[in-house]
Amino acid sequence: MIEIENVHKSFGALKVLKGINLTVERGEVVSVIGGSGSGKSTLLTCINGLEAIDSGRITIDGTVVHDRKTDLNRLRQKVGIVFQQFNAFPHLTVLDNVTLAPRKVLGMGRSEAEEIAVRQLKHVGLGDKLTTYPGRLSGGQQQRMAIARALAMSPKYMLFDEVTSALDPQLVGEVLDTLKMLADEGMTMICVTHEMGFARDVSRRVAFFHQGVMAEIGPPDQIFGAPQDPETQKFLSSVR
Ligand code: ATP
Ligand code: MG
Repeated sequence: MIEIENVHKSFGALKVLKGINLTVERGEVVSVIGGSGSGKSTLLTCINGLEAIDSGRITIDGTVVHDRKTDLNRLRQKVGIVFQQFNAFPHLTVLDNVTLAPRKVLGMGRSEAEEIAVRQLKHVGLGDKLTTYPGRLSGGQQQRMAIARALAMSPKYMLFDEVTSALDPQLVGEVLDTLKMLADEGMTMICVTHEMGFARDVSRRVAFFHQGVMAEIGPPDQIFGAPQDPETQKFLSSVR
């Protein structure tokens, strides 16, 4: 379970998160929507400890993320994150890109790491690209490789930050299908997304962020069908 309690975060004078509360249960998919600069990406980077917080608390299965004693490397094995732009290692094959972290971070031997990597690459539909270099992949394939790379660490939680935003429109569907497959398998996920159809179809709850505040959260039917907050209404009418 991910528990976010009254989290505040500033960059200098700019207050980016203003008291966020959110609990994500195991197996739950929560989508986060909202305008540019509303704090969505910052929330994700705080959850896996890439960013410090000013106050409040984030716990993952009871481990306090921002506790000095917390082993962040260990925590990040549990919480995979995939960004809009994936920085693949261009000089490594797809297979080697995916085995790198299990080998370097988990100290896995080559054959075990490759077995896991092949399984995850097949899982995301890249079983025929093992020896290809990332530069030869389409954007959608690169993002699926990024997802396989995160999955190779056997995370319990996955954070996705607009993983389809940099893709050509015809490539968006294959990546969303991959996310949907993970959701159907019971992966616990927080998905920051501009894809309202995806948020509606796949999430159990949708959170709307506005200027560092979670202005509204509820089931997709509520958020998309009968939003209560005027800012949610305004945002949704602007993106439709
Ligand atoms: P988008 O939809 O454009 O990705 P977002 O909701 O993800 O927006 P964030 O990236 O969380 O927004 O940024 C929230 C605010 O914090 C923005 O005003 C941004 O400029 C600022 N910000 C983010 N990261 C930093 C940083 N490392 N240093 C200073 N300011 C930052
Ligand atoms: Mg962002």
